[in-house]
Amino acid sequence: MSTEKVYIGVAHGGADAGAIGNGFRESDLALRVSLHCDKALRNSGIATMISRISDVSFPSTQKIPQANAFKPDVCLDIHFNSSATGSGNGVESFYTPNNAEEAKLANILCAGLSKLGLANRGAKPSQGAFSFGMVLNTTGVSNLVECAFINSPIDKKYYDTEEKLELIGRTIAKGVCEYLGVEFVDALPEKTGLYAVVKQVIALRDKDNARSEAGIHNRADPNSFYYVVSVDEIKPLRL
Ligand SMILES: [Zn+2]
Repeated sequence: MSTEKVYIGVAHGGADAGAIGNGFRESDLALRVSLHCDKALRNSGIATMISRISDVSFPSTQKIPQANAFKPDVCLDIHFNSSATGSGNGVESFYTPNNAEEAKLANILCAGLSKLGLANRGAKPSQGAFSFGMVLNTTGVSNLVECAFINSPIDKKYYDTEEKLELIGRTIAKGVCEYLGVEFVDALPEKTGLYAVVKQVIALRDKDNARSEAGIHNRADPNSFYYVVSVDEIKPLRL
């Protein structure tokens, strides 16, 4: 069986913060959740592409062609919701109208996130005021998930720490695995117990470019060992 592919669109970014509430910006929360989701999917053997890994602008007009070129089995767009009055709360997710596969994935994602305690607002067709290009104009089984309400006093407790954002990201990944029939690998075991002193980090969006960059350095300096890790795997130790 070929490797399953998942595209992760990260909401907003750069000058576009998206919704704001409870001291958070949607662009930041969506990025943290997306990076955790990406890592969990890759740990489960799924090939991923993520639209951004830092706070830069990469809008739907760029995400849509990037996603379609990647030809994903599942195409996600990860957001946080907001309501005018602050009274809305819970998770909801959007699928292409009359697309049973997308509705199935949307229901799985809502059910998974609601198990964390979030109210389940349910799977909804993307239409009318909720016509989203990342759902309607992308190939693969597409889904736009609104994880929780950024301006809800009820929802805040589900995303106000990095650990909770990780849990949301991993829950989305687990739901995608369930939909694809891929075994969800909870986490990779600690590998070597070795510590690397990192002198310089070159961040590249494209994995193949990163690999060839590492290869160039390895050939130029045989006493060094360059390899490619995801930026979110780099956790500085406080010394
Ligand atoms: Zn949004």
